[in-house]
Amino acid sequence: MKSKIKDILNKKITILFFTGISDKPKTLSVSKKVLFIFFIFLCVILGSSIFIITRYVNYIDVIANNLILENKLEYFSRELIKNRNYLAELKNIDLELRRFLNIETATRTESAIGGPDLIDKIIASKIEAGNSNIVFTIEEFNLALSLVKQEIEERKESVQKIKSYIKQKLQKENSVPNIWPTVSGFISSGYGYRIHPIKKVMFFHKGIDISVPVGKPVIATADGVVKYANWLGGYGKIIILSHGYGYTTYYAHLSSILVEKGTKVFRGDKIGLVGSTGLSTGPHLHYEIRYNNKDVNPIDYIKIKQNKNWE
Ligand SMILES: [Zn+2]
Repeated sequence: MKSKIKDILNKKITILFFTGISDKPKTLSVSKKVLFIFFIFLCVILGSSIFIITRYVNYIDVIANNLILENKLEYFSRELIKNRNYLAELKNIDLELRRFLNIETATRTESAIGGPDLIDKIIASKIEAGNSNIVFTIEEFNLALSLVKQEIEERKESVQKIKSYIKQKLQKENSVPNIWPTVSGFISSGYGYRIHPIKKVMFFHKGIDISVPVGKPVIATADGVVKYANWLGGYGKIIILSHGYGYTTYYAHLSSILVEKGTKVFRGDKIGLVGSTGLSTGPHLHYEIRYNNKDVNPIDYIKIKQNKNWE
């Protein structure tokens, strides 16, 4: 068998070359053995070339991907730094607002627990190293991102606190009875000692009497809840409002009550109508303010004298 293969390989092949129609063809005799070696050599060269080209293409691919990743990292680093700066501005506004509103600043908000300082140092060292574009490493990027997230949470918490502070402040302000309790009229009897118009004895008048025609609206002077709305001895038909923060108001001698116990009222709401019920000599509204269960002079509280909206 071996000798048979040997015989085949030793046989020669003659190749004819025609250089012209009339010329005699040239001949080249090559043994099959040489041709076989040449074929093997060709296969090795071809195989190696394919391998090298494939590796090179992969290498180019990796370089291209790296370049894309580097560009992405540069972009994200730039965006992160930009957003970090916005957050710093927001933090300043937050602190200014707190100072302006006299709200105690939380330790966490003001100190920033050294986190952002670390990123500041990293940025500073990159600038010192002469990098025109600041590009974070993946680790630095993750650290900066987690600090930015933490900062956002702190700002959110702070804004919520400012919101509830303002809400509480507004609620308190709206609970102070500071408007004229009806639509027109004039004070016919002030706060303090006087001779009772019916009993004819000296007594302390705990409110003011506003002379105003029957049927004119009686207006809640602050936000609150109806504590009492019924007849009460010499007061006649009366509404007592509880405003919270120590304030209570009385609206007496009414001809009509338009609310009931437990009704939530807002400053400016029409709650009843002027009348002359109870111990009264004529149509008027008796109005009292109590602060921490003690009567005070309503005149000291009335900032808006008339409620034109109800005319
Ligand atoms: Zn009175």
